[in-house]
Amino acid sequence: MANNERIIIPGPCSVESREQFLTSVSVFKEMGIDTVRGTVYKPRTRPGEFEGVKLKGVPWIAEATNLGITVGTEVLMSQNVTSLIKCLDKNGGDPTKLLFWLGSRNQNQDVQRGIARRISKEAPNNVKLLIKNQPWNDEAHWLGIVDYVVSAGLDPSRLILCHRGFCANGHGNPHNFRNIPDFDMAMRVKEKTGLPMLLDPSHIGGSVENVFKVVGMAAEYPFDGMIIEVHPDPPHAKTDNKQQLTFQQFYEMLKLYKNI
Ligand code: PEP
Ligand code: MN
Repeated sequence: MANNERIIIPGPCSVESREQFLTSVSVFKEMGIDTVRGTVYKPRTRPGEFEGVKLKGVPWIAEATNLGITVGTEVLMSQNVTSLIKCLDKNGGDPTKLLFWLGSRNQNQDVQRGIARRISKEAPNNVKLLIKNQPWNDEAHWLGIVDYVVSAGLDPSRLILCHRGFCANGHGNPHNFRNIPDFDMAMRVKEKTGLPMLLDPSHIGGSVENVFKVVGMAAEYPFDGMIIEVHPDPPHAKTDNKQQLTFQQFYEMLKLYKNI
């Protein structure tokens, strides 16, 4: 996961096909990256939108884990944890190379506790949970998510936090970002919890130009790395096609910002 001590997790917004995912994995592996985004369950705004390849994508995730790559994958409900572990096992993958994440849009205490319980009972004990902040701007709620998963039995050493901005809600948006960052709050939450804090510039920025802008703005804050959307062919991506970087843009970004 670490690249010069930073946690850098690039990868497509959604796993779409074997070729799309494993091409990405081999490019990132070549760059020395050891953890890749690989989401098969997608939270969506409206019915009819692409909801992910679901368990059909697990054999491709299994191949990636067998190349030594840890795959970060979103779970929408606690049952997804069990299905992913069982299916990965059936496909000969390495369940120690999973990183689950709790997305911003499914944050209530039963989901939080359920996912935490299943990870602590069913996943190998090196497997971690990445937690994104909830969409609405509320520090107490963000800290509460951590309290819920810890009180459900997941050791804090298995948690990583991530700032993906908050809904604008009419509070002004001078840069036309998709979500509004509060870097100071992210740093307070990092301080109060003692947990690593990643930046998600993709879901804050919403466009390639803004993704670069967000990383530039965040560079003076001590984030512990980032999770960032990178796709082999962004214009044809099935989700979030405006904000995904090409491999070349990602490479430039890593060169430009060495401390995030
Ligand atoms: C994602 O990372 O693909 C995602 C759905 O993001 P968020 O939960 O931040 O909206
Ligand atoms: Mn996305």
